[in-house]
Amino acid sequence: MPLISLSPLPYEKTALNGFLSEQTLTFHHDKHLATYVETTNKLRVGTAFEHESIYNIIVNAREGALYNNAAQVFNHEFYFNCLSATTQEIPEELSECLKTNFGTVEVFLEKFVASAVGNFGSGWTWLVKNGDGLEIVNTQNAGNPLLYGKIPLLTVDVWEHAYYLDYQNRRADYVKAFCNHVNWAHVLACLHEAK
Ligand code: MN
Repeated sequence: MPLISLSPLPYEKTALNGFLSEQTLTFHHDKHLATYVETTNKLRVGTAFEHESIYNIIVNAREGALYNNAAQVFNHEFYFNCLSATTQEIPEELSECLKTNFGTVEVFLEKFVASAVGNFGSGWTWLVKNGDGLEIVNTQNAGNPLLYGKIPLLTVDVWEHAYYLDYQNRRADYVKAFCNHVNWAHVLACLHEAK
C-alpha cells in the first residue's frame, strides 16, 4: 500500500469564517493532521501494519503509538468531513431517526453539546450507530468508537487545538457553533453506509 496521504480539506480554509478562522484550520489541518499522517507512515514501517489501511490499523492495533496516530488521521478526516460551509437543514430521514432515538432533535443537540462540554481533557464526542440504535459517546485522546463495534456518524474534536485560537476556554460556545455548521448530508450518508 502506498504512503497514507494528507487529504485536502473539502472546503477553503476561509469557508468557516465566523465559526472557525483560517488560522485555526491552517494549524489544525496543515500542522496537526499532517503530523499524524507523517508519524503514521513512519511508525508502520517494519510492522505488521506496513501495508494496511488506516481502518485496519485502528481495529487491529487497538493501542500504542501507531494506533494513536492512525486513529487521529481517521478522526480528523472524519471531523473535517462533518463540517459544512453553509448551515444545512437536517434531512427529514435523519431528523426522524434522531426523534426515535432521543425524543426530539433539540434534545439530541442539547445532549450532544452537554456531552462534548463534559468530555474531560482532550478527546472526541461522537454520534454513533450501535446495533439498531443511535448513541452519543465520548472518547479520550485518540479513542475511536470502531474499537467497540460502533459506527461513527458525526464527531466534534474537543482537543483544545481545535478551538483555542478562536474560543480560548469557551468550549461550550465552540460546540454550539459546531452544531450550526454540521454537514448533515454526510451524517445521513454514514447512516446509510452503516445499514
Ligand atoms: Mn484535532
